[in-house]
Amino acid sequence: MAAASPTASSAVTPAARLRDSHGRVIHDLRVSITDRCNYRCVYCRTGEIGAQYPELGIDEYLRLIGLFVSLGIEKVRLTGGEPLLRRGLLELLRELAKMRTVAGEPLDLALTTNGHLLDGLAAPLKAAGLNRVTVSMDAVDAETFERITRVPRSFQQVVAGIRAARQAGLTPLKVNCVLLRGFNDNEIEGFARFAREEGVVVRFIEFMPLEEDRLWSPEIVVPLKEIVERVSRVMPLRPLPPNEASETARRYTFEDGVGEIGIIAPVTQAFCGACSRVRLTSDGKIRTCLFSQVEHDLYGRIRAGESDAEIRDYIVRTVHGKEARHHIGEPGFLKPSRSMVHIGG
Ligand code: SAM
Repeated sequence: MAAASPTASSAVTPAARLRDSHGRVIHDLRVSITDRCNYRCVYCRTGEIGAQYPELGIDEYLRLIGLFVSLGIEKVRLTGGEPLLRRGLLELLRELAKMRTVAGEPLDLALTTNGHLLDGLAAPLKAAGLNRVTVSMDAVDAETFERITRVPRSFQQVVAGIRAARQAGLTPLKVNCVLLRGFNDNEIEGFARFAREEGVVVRFIEFMPLEEDRLWSPEIVVPLKEIVERVSRVMPLRPLPPNEASETARRYTFEDGVGEIGIIAPVTQAFCGACSRVRLTSDGKIRTCLFSQVEHDLYGRIRAGESDAEIRDYIVRTVHGKEARHHIGEPGFLKPSRSMVHIGG
C-alpha cells in the first residue's frame, strides 16, 4: 500500500505550520472515514437511509492525512458516520501510528464512536495504535436510549463497549451526551452518577443546528449554566482548569474530587476563538468549520494528479481562509449544506 511517509515532516519548516488569517494555529484534524451509521438517532437522522457520500480508499486517507501532518497536525480524530463500520480501520490506524509530527512525536490518535461494535473491537483498536475513544451515549436509561438510537438492545451493547474500552486502556474515556430539552434532559443527574460509577468523563453537549430534520430551536438547547446548576443540586461541582487552550469542554469535578464532568457549549459559550480544528469529510473535502457554507475539494486534486507540494499548498491556503466563528442564533444564520453525520462529528 502507498502509505504516507512516516517522516513526511522532515521536508517542512516550522514556518509552514497551518495557521488561519485570525492567528489560530491549526493542529487538530478530524477525519470522517464513512458517513454510514448503524444508528438512526432521532436528533441527528431522519430515519431514512438517505443519500450517502463516497468513501476514499484507506491509502488515499493516509496520503491526505500525511500531508496535513507534515504541515503541523498533531492530533487526528477518526469519526463518521460510524467509524467502526469502516473496513480497513485497523490497517489505517496501524499506518497512522507510524507517522510522526513535525516535532518528531507520535500522533495523538483518537476516535469517536457510538460504541455499538466497541466490545469486540476495543482491544484490536488499542493494539493497532489508537490512544483513546469518545463514546456517544445520550441516555443512561435503556428505554430512553433505545428510543433515541432506534436500535433495539443498543444500550447493553454500548455499556459493554465502554467497559471493554476502559479495560483495553483506551483512556481517558469520554462519554458524550447531546442534551435536548424535554427529551433527555431528565438524564442529567443520572449521568453524573454514571461518570463516577463507570470511571468515565461524561461530557454534555449543547444541541447544534446540524440535524437532517428541522428540529433545532434555541428553546430546545439546554445551556451550560443550567446543566451546572442541575448537577450541583444533587452533587456539588467545582471547576477544573482546562487541559489546553483549545479544549472544547469546560471541566468540573465533584466536591470529593472523584469523577469528571465536561460541558461543551458551542451555542451559549462559543469557543471559536480558540479553535484549532479542521475537518476532512469521507469524500475528501476540507471543511474549515462545522458551519462552513463552502467545502474545498481536496480529493479532486488527487484525482487530477497534483503533486504533494501542490496539495500542501492548497491545504495551507484553504486553512488560512478558515471562518472567524459560527453564527448560530444570529439573524440570517444558514445551516450548512451537510448534516453532522455527513460532515463527521
Ligand atoms: N457515530 C459516531 C458517534 O456516534 O459518536 C461519530 C459520528 S456522530 C455524528 C458524532 C457526535 O456528534 C455524536 O456524539 C453525536 O451525538 C453528535 N451530534 C450529532 N448531531 C449533533 C447536533 N445537532 N448537535 C450536537 N452534537 C451532535
